[in-house]
Amino acid sequence: MASVDSTAAQRTNGHCGGAEIPVENPATGEVVAHVADLPADRVAELARLGRAAQPGWQAMGFEGRGRVIRRMQKWIMDDWERIVATIVSETGKTYEDAFLVEINYAGGAIDYWIKHAPKFLADEPVHVKTLAGIGKKMIVRYEPLGLIGVIGPWNYPLINSFGDCIPALLAGNSVILKPSEITPLTSLLLAQGLAESGLPEAVLQVATGRGETGAAVVDEVDMIMFTGSTATGRKVMARAAETLTPVALELGGKDPMIVLSDADLERAANLAVYYSMLNGGQTCISIERVYVEEPVYDEFVRRVVDKVGVLRQGESAAPATVEVGAMTLPRQLDVVEEHVRDAVAKGARALTGGRRRPGKGTFYEPTVLVDVDHTMKAMTEETFGPTLAIMRVGDAEEALTLANDSPYGLGGAVFTADRARGEQLARRMQAGAVCVNDALLNYVAVELPMGGWKASGLGTRHGASGIRKFTKQQSLFVSRVHLKNDVFMFPYRPTVSKALFRGLRLLYGRARRR
Ligand code: NDP
Repeated sequence: MASVDSTAAQRTNGHCGGAEIPVENPATGEVVAHVADLPADRVAELARLGRAAQPGWQAMGFEGRGRVIRRMQKWIMDDWERIVATIVSETGKTYEDAFLVEINYAGGAIDYWIKHAPKFLADEPVHVKTLAGIGKKMIVRYEPLGLIGVIGPWNYPLINSFGDCIPALLAGNSVILKPSEITPLTSLLLAQGLAESGLPEAVLQVATGRGETGAAVVDEVDMIMFTGSTATGRKVMARAAETLTPVALELGGKDPMIVLSDADLERAANLAVYYSMLNGGQTCISIERVYVEEPVYDEFVRRVVDKVGVLRQGESAAPATVEVGAMTLPRQLDVVEEHVRDAVAKGARALTGGRRRPGKGTFYEPTVLVDVDHTMKAMTEETFGPTLAIMRVGDAEEALTLANDSPYGLGGAVFTADRARGEQLARRMQAGAVCVNDALLNYVAVELPMGGWKASGLGTRHGASGIRKFTKQQSLFVSRVHLKNDVFMFPYRPTVSKALFRGLRLLYGRARRR
């Protein structure tokens, strides 16, 4: 495999000699690079450069911008090994989690946005439906907002940081990308790729740093696309309110899966295991809790435990060596440990794992919890680790009530042989994206909008709304018929006024009489 590109890691937008942040490989504890910790005045300078570059980028049109992004798609596919090695080095995830999820997403999403951006942002003629519209041409159009701030988390450094830059750029904006301080190297490498693909200077800039750098980005931009925890999302929204800057928030989740007694148990167990352990469980739409109907509960648990028991965990030094990687953020290990400890203290049992893995690196053993209930943090708070809690329920209604008993509403899944019933249950699940007999794959089906309800977010990514949020909408109302100016005094004559009232009542009063 290719090695990490330390040149890209050192690229810090001209900032040198200031404070630095060490970047560690969580699977080994080794420091792999240092990046700049940008102060607020440097972020303001990036904003000035980004604003100056934006009009030229917008003027290139969809075709010109699409050509650059298409070259970037090729750059990613040509250089995938270097990108995967960089992602693995800063997250400790497996090669497969980096390649199958992140690189695959980039390829598909770039394709989708290049093809659909011109259509989603084209002028929309509006048809006359009201009296006011007669004789008018009406158009809704979309104008780039200007400078977008993309603030990303550490769990998917390509998807959740760079992934949002693609539609923001194609819409004609310039972007300041603030990656997590834990995983900044992928963003720096991709910025290098964009520069080599012909992106004009300062159209995309990476502001490496900690939370204070993120807060400075919020102050400088025209719109914030934030992905991260609900707690930080609240802070971002409060800060953005000071400048009335619009925000889109993709936040935490506690996604439930419901398994009914007629479900294909082998499929349900496979997907429960895969989508709870994928990326070491550090996925916003991970399956974290499962509600299984009584008649199939024991068999479902047996299958899940058998599958989790054979998972290999450790440093992903080469492809196809381990299924479960490290915990990227060392302090997240404390959260996972606390949730399992709390559950066991309240009567739960860990049928696999249930502890940190001894030795180097930050690993938590893949863990299946049973005898759980909603007094336990493992069932109500985001764990964000390789754990799966399984609860026995009497019927589908009880499962649905428990699934909805959460402050979060990001995703969910229902498994049943009766697809129509599954769809009815899915419609009643309080979440922004729900799968029937599937899970998580909806995220890479970029045609479908994805966004959380309740404390899981605001706004969506993907689909038409996923690019329109990076624009401001303008309505054009063009008069085709020119009336004489004094016609506006006409209704104030007594006879005309009375006739108009009668006419309006006839026109709009029909519903009451029916
Ligand atoms: P955080 O909320 O801790 O951080 C997210 C980003 O915000 C980081 O770049 C962070 O910088 C930055 N930040 C921190 N403080 C501020 C501030 N005051 N103002 C502006 N920016 C700030 O999230 P995590 O990185 O821990 O990511 C994990 C979370 O992300 C989980 O809750 C997960 O569910 C959620 N998530 C949601 C997704 C979705 O699509 N809904 C997808 C993926 C993850 P720094 O890291 O340098 O402190």
